[in-house]
Amino acid sequence: MKRVAVFCGANVGAQPLYAETARLVARLLVERGLGVVFGGGRIGLMGALADAALEAGGEVIGVIPQALVDREQAHGGLTELNVVSTMHERKALMTQRSEAFLALPGGFGTMDELFEAITWRQLGYHDKPAAVLNVAGFYDGLEAYFERAAADGFISSLRTRVLIGSEPAALLDRLIESAGIAS
Ligand code: AMP
Repeated sequence: MKRVAVFCGANVGAQPLYAETARLVARLLVERGLGVVFGGGRIGLMGALADAALEAGGEVIGVIPQALVDREQAHGGLTELNVVSTMHERKALMTQRSEAFLALPGGFGTMDELFEAITWRQLGYHDKPAAVLNVAGFYDGLEAYFERAAADGFISSLRTRVLIGSEPAALLDRLIESAGIAS
């Protein structure tokens, strides 16, 4: 099965739209026959995403470090839960088990995961594309940074470009196309 790794907050955020969007993204992935790889927790947007994907009959794979099993309330109902030793192993396994990456709103953890996915591609460790879903303008600042960094010559290669968009289905379809996993 082809899968998309979704990076998102361990909190739900200040607007109900964030969790609603996480649930919508879960359903869109399942509708497209794609599995979900995520951080394995029951809390925040992560939990909303996982529950909605499971409810829709999808495959959901969680990857959580042992130290976070309690803090992020490891989800007991997943298709597969991988408990790993370190954060590095978490990111490596999430990368291995997926064909593309999608970031929803989140905090430092989400950014860490997104930037590692992008930089590893830039360095040639994998060739899996990443997308950022700009929900309610949440990532306007990040998009401005990408544009400034490209304009000022710090981001050069098209390969490292990140897909960014505000419409979940359209962005997902661009990501799927870019990853070559359209069914
Ligand atoms: P946040 O976006 O900060 O709410 O975090 C979202 C997810 O990213 C949570 O499951 C965090 O445990 C995870 N996370 C935070 N830091 C890291 C890291 N360095 N490597 C991998 N995952 C992380």
